[in-house]
Amino acid sequence: MQATIEVTGLRKRFGPTLALDGMSFTVQPGQVTGFVGPNGAGKSTTMRVVLGLDAPDEGTALVGGTPYQSLRRPFTHLGALLDAGALQPGRSARNHLLWLAQSQGLPARRVDEVLGQVGLTSVARRRAAGFSLGMRQRLGIAGALLGQPRMLMFDEPFNGMDPEGIVWMRGFLRSLASEGRAVLVSSHLMSELQDTADHLVVVGRGKVVADTSMAELLAAASGDRVVLRTTARPAAMTVLAQAGAAVTVTDDDALMISGLAAERVVGLLSAAAVPFSEVSAHRASLEQAYLELTSESVEFRGERAGAGQAAATKEAAR
Ligand code: ADP
Repeated sequence: MQATIEVTGLRKRFGPTLALDGMSFTVQPGQVTGFVGPNGAGKSTTMRVVLGLDAPDEGTALVGGTPYQSLRRPFTHLGALLDAGALQPGRSARNHLLWLAQSQGLPARRVDEVLGQVGLTSVARRRAAGFSLGMRQRLGIAGALLGQPRMLMFDEPFNGMDPEGIVWMRGFLRSLASEGRAVLVSSHLMSELQDTADHLVVVGRGKVVADTSMAELLAAASGDRVVLRTTARPAAMTVLAQAGAAVTVTDDDALMISGLAAERVVGLLSAAAVPFSEVSAHRASLEQAYLELTSESVEFRGERAGAGQAAATKEAAR
């Protein structure tokens, strides 16, 4: 069985809300696939449909080529963490996992193995009621791993994690993928998936707005732009504009140049004796690329939409 999670043309309406509007993508084995989009974009609903917890109005969801409900011992194929809060607070972490293992017909030794994997061995006998959200996320992931599944699906696993936990989570997700598993991880923050996801499925308003490798997204978002730092900004702007470049001022007082290669910028500035401290190819931040992709699908926008304008105004005021 191929370890892929495949959703095709999912549509799902909750009363007046169209939660899924033709959601389609495939999660490949051996990769971390980031499932990213603003809150309300339909990520959790998609995961619930994959697990057979919500029935779609249209479309199909297949786990290794088979609907989840038709799998024999499904937790040995797909492990999922949807809601880290869904715990019996009175139970210890270990008893919670023992209960899960037993209900799935799995040996008790798996419990100690997964506790070790997620770093909860030392608190295994403590009641889950006293756990931070970050510890609950680890416990939920331990539960998903019990059946040694080849496919994994985690909904917002970075939520509530402290910086150390985030670093751990990134490494852990990568190690699961390097073992050949298909790993789908949702987040509403692109930054959480930096250095983690190989592939991205970006969603907004119930459908996919980009399905791309991380490398391709970064390259496309960077465009052919060059960043210039100089103390002689007016002179530099004049020289570059005369050569046909479009020049804008960035938020951190650098110049962003479109229409000229970096080598040409260096040549022009040197010929005109304009000093500069940096000329470099622009590397778009992932967050910026994400915001550009999803700007149409965010219902409540913050100040970001006016950021370019603010920079222009700042320049005019000088
Ligand atoms: P995400 O996980 O990307 O934040 P969700 O899948 O949770 O998005 O939600 C998608 C949309 O569907 C939202 O508008 C949400 O309010 C709505 N929705 C999800 N589940 C239900 C439900 N059980 N009843 C009503 N509306 C729902």
